[in-house]
Amino acid sequence: MKKICTWILGIVLAFIVLLSGALIYWYFASINYHLTGMPVLNYHQVNNKFHTVLTMKPENFEEQIRYLSENGYHSITLEQFEQYMEGNTSNLPDRPILITFDDGYVDNYEYAYPILKKYNMVGTIFLITDFVGRPGYLNWDQVKEMSNAGMEFGSHTLSHRPLDSFNRADMRHELVGSKKAVEWHLNRPCDFIAFPEGKFTDTVLEETQNAGYKYGFTIDAGRDFPWDNPYDLDRIAMFEGPISFEHFRFRLTFSAFSAFLWKTHKFFEHMEFTKPLANCIPEP
Ligand SMILES: [Zn+2]
Repeated sequence: MKKICTWILGIVLAFIVLLSGALIYWYFASINYHLTGMPVLNYHQVNNKFHTVLTMKPENFEEQIRYLSENGYHSITLEQFEQYMEGNTSNLPDRPILITFDDGYVDNYEYAYPILKKYNMVGTIFLITDFVGRPGYLNWDQVKEMSNAGMEFGSHTLSHRPLDSFNRADMRHELVGSKKAVEWHLNRPCDFIAFPEGKFTDTVLEETQNAGYKYGFTIDAGRDFPWDNPYDLDRIAMFEGPISFEHFRFRLTFSAFSAFLWKTHKFFEHMEFTKPLANCIPEP
């Protein structure tokens, strides 16, 4: 009996040592993209009007951008991101970070863009091109104005219906149509896409490549490395759940670890009899 107890204690201790080792590594290496990958933040709405899972208050957004600015982070362009993925880091600043927004809400122009400008940062907005000009969404004039000032744009398809819900021909239509719309309005290549709801299949990835995109972002949590599949890139979600400043800090610093927690939580939540277990695993 005593022997078993010693064994269990040993295993628990070893686990604690390993876990704290991993956390210490992540804490100190999280600012070094060579070691822990490129962080890509993913926002949606920034306003005071709505209170949905996609909404962040402008004051919270500013607090986060100010933190990045004061802590030596530099927002990078899509070109710099591409160079990083190609293994060329000669043009990369210290502590690079890619800031992205999905859906193309008009509040990105009203709130997020002025805040980014104030801190000398840029971001990339993924547009649902059929929604541009509709109430609540950006219009092409706003898109052009921001584009001229250094903000960048990618595709979030034509209709925002998940790409895995289409047959091949319609999938192609969504991918090519939205790419062309962005290129036609901005007169520059549109090589990046964010998949609606982060959903994709092997066919989606294949058609994305066929449509001429070079990179695809999901909403899976994590950071990106040059050896990752360029059409299956992770981001750090700044939506879903209460994004306090502590959440932001934790997710930014421990992206890989928080990704692990999220995935295990989701896994256990999936089955009825393991649901109580899921509740024990925090969603950071
Ligand atoms: Zn979306």
